[in-house]
Amino acid sequence: MTDGPTYGFDTLQIHAGARPDPATGARQTPIYQSTAYVFRDAEHAAALFNLQEVGYIYSRLTNPTVAVLQERIATLEGGVGAVCCSSGHAAQIMALFPLMQPGCNVVASSRLYGGTVTQFSQTIKRFGWSAKFVDTDDLDAVKAAVDENTRAVFCESVANPGGYITDIEALAAIADGAGVPLIVDNTSATPYLCNPISLGATLVVHSTTKYLTGNGTVTGGCIVDSGKFDWSASDKFPSMSQPEPAYHGLKFHETFGPLAFTFHGIAVGLRDLGMTMNPQAAHYTLMGIETLSLRMERHVQNAKEIAGWLETHDSVDYVTYAGLESSPYHDRVERICPKGAGGLFTVALKGGYEACVKFVENLEIFSHVANLGDARSLVIHSASTTHRQLTPEQQEAAGAGPNVVRISIGIENAADLIADLDQALKKAHR
Ligand SMILES: *Cc1c(COP(=O)(O)O)cnc(C)c1O
Repeated sequence: MTDGPTYGFDTLQIHAGARPDPATGARQTPIYQSTAYVFRDAEHAAALFNLQEVGYIYSRLTNPTVAVLQERIATLEGGVGAVCCSSGHAAQIMALFPLMQPGCNVVASSRLYGGTVTQFSQTIKRFGWSAKFVDTDDLDAVKAAVDENTRAVFCESVANPGGYITDIEALAAIADGAGVPLIVDNTSATPYLCNPISLGATLVVHSTTKYLTGNGTVTGGCIVDSGKFDWSASDKFPSMSQPEPAYHGLKFHETFGPLAFTFHGIAVGLRDLGMTMNPQAAHYTLMGIETLSLRMERHVQNAKEIAGWLETHDSVDYVTYAGLESSPYHDRVERICPKGAGGLFTVALKGGYEACVKFVENLEIFSHVANLGDARSLVIHSASTTHRQLTPEQQEAAGAGPNVVRISIGIENAADLIADLDQALKKAHR
């Protein structure tokens, strides 16, 4: 598409970043299944390697199919650039990598995807980084946690396992005050429901594995940069503001301005960490993203109806879905995710652990899997699976107590999903 009128979301999710293939006219983005790209001549090769000219060298760094997806997601999020990578967890490391050094920390919400809690509390220690977990509803606690070694604040917009909406504006104000970027994981909300950049986020990360692909076929991740952060305002971010020895002393922020983070993500992040998205994965995600808004509308509509139905069911203790009037976070929906609170929530069953296991085993349409954000409905009993290794106290804190089942509502007929839940609840309590 050419620059011109400002198109709506439904148009951009199909067209942004894509042009008819210049060689063949192919309308759909081809899968450029090529590792390397022929240089025009030695001068062209030198310019590419010096970052004086943008182009394709080797698919660890850039690939034309992946590039279309990068531009598509950046556009939908309202960012200036994006870097795709091999998974959501890779995106988190890629987002932190240019910001952190040994001894630095990230102030992170205590309400995060379970795998992120493990990555932040255990694995990043190997790099000499650390995370300080705080309740992001306690803004004084967030402010108190930020110290001179903090290099980012990290949260999820609609936090896994569902039902919690983060006050992104309030966190962005604290991060701004401290001169550090706010990173928002927008996986569960997607850019259709929530625009973290318009609420003050510097960087947005995604597991494209989930709703953006939407069909449970490939893993992938993405980091979107708002282009708004001044990396040279302090000496905190030398990777952005100081000379890069591997590029003859080039300074990324000075040279690339608002695109500094994106260029660094490709020219240093992908080059050296190698967490690259392959063109097949980009293709599946491009297919999925074309219908994102339609799917999210149905996810939200189904989730509202089903959460409301479950809330009044005799076998149910409570339902945590921010789209319900009963949710303490209901007030934030209008401001943070005006088109709805997503398709993910938890339900607590009377009868505890045993009832949950029977319930999950007896569902027929819903699949018991460690995934979310698929077109098909999914459930998981966290206490007997993903959160098995945690103590009962840790399970409660993570919203994954033994009596809780996480539900990812798909886009099937709501009446069929309700009938399936109803029969499984009856069997669970027999
Ligand atoms: C799945 C998920 C991740 C991790 O993504 P992968 O693609 O599985 O690596 C991170 N954050 C959230 C919110 C997720 O749902």
